[in-house]
Amino acid sequence: MSNDESSVRVAVRIRPQTPSEVVEGCAVCARGGGAAGEGGVALGSERAFTFDFAFDPASSQQQLYDTCVRRLVDAALDGYNATVLAYGQTGSGKTYTMGSGWEGEGEGDEDRRGIIPRAIRDLFAGAEARADQAREQGLLPPEFCVQAQFIELYNEDIVDLLDPARDAFAKGGLKITEDGCGGVRIVGASVRSVRCAREALGALRAGALARTTAATNMNSSSSRSHAVFTLLLRQRRLAGDAEDKEEGPEQYETLTAKFHFVDLAGSERLKRTGATGERAREGISINCGLLALGNVISALGDKSRKVLHVPYRDSKLTRLLQDSLGGNSNTVMIACISPSDRDFMETLNTLKYANRAR
Ligand code: ADP
Ligand code: MG
Repeated sequence: MSNDESSVRVAVRIRPQTPSEVVEGCAVCARGGGAAGEGGVALGSERAFTFDFAFDPASSQQQLYDTCVRRLVDAALDGYNATVLAYGQTGSGKTYTMGSGWEGEGEGDEDRRGIIPRAIRDLFAGAEARADQAREQGLLPPEFCVQAQFIELYNEDIVDLLDPARDAFAKGGLKITEDGCGGVRIVGASVRSVRCAREALGALRAGALARTTAATNMNSSSSRSHAVFTLLLRQRRLAGDAEDKEEGPEQYETLTAKFHFVDLAGSERLKRTGATGERAREGISINCGLLALGNVISALGDKSRKVLHVPYRDSKLTRLLQDSLGGNSNTVMIACISPSDRDFMETLNTLKYANRAR
């Protein structure tokens, strides 16, 4: 992606009305895509926003993936980190869009597949295509090694979804460390080597199942936590200018890339202090990850470059993502919204949050 453009892109996706919204006769108040102009979203008759991309309820999983995510996969194969985030109130379509859920990921449901399974398939296909291309040219093919990690951030605790038996709340817990060169990792979280798309999908499914089970056991819902599925890509390939020279170990380079897929906590958790009445009774607490993420993304998107300090350290979520947001990384935030008028206020809040990111 070119340098003069922000590395953060923002898309809005309007889901179709649910059967119950249709039955209850909810009016449609959010329109986007074609009707509101490219990248445009209209809320009611008074408010209009413009984003990098807008997807109306008729848009397919394939369209969204092709427009927003496919090139991040190509870039990851060239060593660039990437983060795709789904933001929005509970029920707005985050899990559907990311494909990070356990239910509804039926084998036969090719069209409904979300971003993660599509990215997994393209990543392995892309790696294979690069190796084939090298062989055709008589060059040594690049070697790829892919690992998967799947964690959940629950308040400020990290839960390892690939090793759910591990007690995340035990003394110490899992910790985020920085390696001093800008790299970030979670100490103690399992990383699973995945040799093909099928194995990577297996890790995704296992973690998604662990997430629903844990949520049920804790008598809470996944709307309170952030689920972060990560693919770690390591590649050993012939260095770019080495093709004409004689063979030797110094001709090789190792490229690494990290691809995070984040199904964020429900945005209704992002309430300013002093929330009263209904909300206070529901016991909704502020999610500091969402708050910090908004500040980080808005600092990164500041085109005047007046903001010198990007506040990564304010939450575990932003600390974890810091080497994959901004800089040379590609970031796409997908704000998911409901089309129905009864969600008007939450939708307005989501559009305002997403608007800060541009
Ligand atoms: P969230 O993860 O934000 O709480 P979900 O992804 O669970 O929301 O979506 C809520 C419901 O709406 C689910 O039943 C889901 O299948 C459906 N849904 C969401 N987005 C779409 C879409 N674009 N097309 C069809 N159904 C959708
Ligand atoms: Mg969800």
